[in-house]
Amino acid sequence: MSDEQQVLILGGGLSGLSFAIALAIEEPTLDITLLEAHPFRSGTPNPMDTRGSALNLHSVELLTRWGLWSALESHSGVIGDIHVSHRGHFGSTVMTAGELEVPALGYVVENHELGRALLARAEQLGVTVRAPVRCVALVADAEKPAVQTDDGERLTADLVLLAAGVAKEWFEGLGIGVEERPTGNHAVVFNASFPGAQQGRAFERFTPHGPLAVLPLPSLTRSEQRFNVVWSVSDREIETLGSLDSEAFISAFQAAFGWRLGRVSNVGQRSQWPLVRLVASEQYRSGFLLVGNAAHTLHPVAGQGLNLSLREAGMLASELAMAVRKGRRIGQLGSLNHYLTGAIEEQHFITRSTDLLATLFNRRGPLLDAPRNLSLALLDLIPAARSRVANLGTGQRTARNSVG
Ligand SMILES: Cc1cc2nc3c(=O)[nH]c(=O)nc-3n(C[C@H](O)[C@H](O)[C@H](O)COP(=O)(O)OP(=O)(O)OC[C@H]3O[C@@H](n4cnc5c(N)ncnc54)[C@H](O)[C@@H]3O)c2cc1C
Repeated sequence: MSDEQQVLILGGGLSGLSFAIALAIEEPTLDITLLEAHPFRSGTPNPMDTRGSALNLHSVELLTRWGLWSALESHSGVIGDIHVSHRGHFGSTVMTAGELEVPALGYVVENHELGRALLARAEQLGVTVRAPVRCVALVADAEKPAVQTDDGERLTADLVLLAAGVAKEWFEGLGIGVEERPTGNHAVVFNASFPGAQQGRAFERFTPHGPLAVLPLPSLTRSEQRFNVVWSVSDREIETLGSLDSEAFISAFQAAFGWRLGRVSNVGQRSQWPLVRLVASEQYRSGFLLVGNAAHTLHPVAGQGLNLSLREAGMLASELAMAVRKGRRIGQLGSLNHYLTGAIEEQHFITRSTDLLATLFNRRGPLLDAPRNLSLALLDLIPAARSRVANLGTGQRTARNSVG
């Protein structure tokens, strides 16, 4: 048997590619293959993805270590401060990078730019990327974990990372339970331009329909500032919004967001995302490890899903590099226990904080206005509460964890 250990990654979304890169950098002896069901177009297997990712400082640190940030920085919007407000109510609060003594609260990169950079880096590092190849079955009862592809191929590896997003049927096949809470909401995501040049400010606005995040992107012209918008609405409202032409949609968005950036001059292509909240009961079984959205799918209100996956990619890569150095098989539970303990602790913290924000700010009705107003007031008054929310954004709680 050759000493080279093999990793198979199922799913070439942002998580799958990030894990591939982290592993290739931290343990170059690994033989890594990634299978993606869709062809990569415009840097992503989903060319309809109009989302941007708000990346915290810990994620930027990791992307720098993985040799990616220098290519991404010029495509990123800087979040210097966050303006939090509640529609129909006076008052707002601003959290600034200065008060936390950090250069920025985070950075926003469009997913297609991020996907393009991750794919190029993975290939440059020698990861074998195969697309389109769809996996149709998992084989968990053999000596090593294996997957069956749609063209009848059977591929085995020492460790298989399931990075295929929400793929519940597979978890059941592996005997892994899934806790799923329907949110009854969708997000509509699009880029919007405003005249003027207000740079560096993100907005989180709580409306009766759900949270609305407006995140800065780099400007294409001097006279207009671009933002990526994540607008959460109920499943019923998403149908109405989806049927609006561009002019009517701009009016609806302007009414929900208000005029703090002036008149919306343009909106780009819109995409819709069901807001599923899902946590797998276990993350490892017989050489298969769930990662990314497959392990935890969160409400996007705090922009944490990908940040959590990047952190876990860094943690897993360090653990596997250590296992290889000690001559251990990487797919065995003994090599993954430390990673699983750390990852699950991070997931609990992020999931609880995200759920709290989503619940607090997503309810309707006058009775719930009081706690909501109170929470904005608290954010303004209590430095500890402000820094807890802001730290969730910057990823500082976990910055104590070493990057590698
Ligand atoms: C509206 C919205 C906004 C968000 N904003 C942020 C943010 O600002 N910051 C942040 O950190 N996170 C954010 N997130 C979360 C973040 O987008 C995800 O965590 C991230 O995209 C990682 O997803 P993934 O790669 O795990 O899964 P996916 O994106 O679902 O990728 C899974 C991949 O697996 C492939 N696949 C599926 N089945 C198979 C198969 N059988 N064989 C082969 N391949 C297969 C799919 O084609 C797909 O490419 C947001 C999420 C939403 C919904």
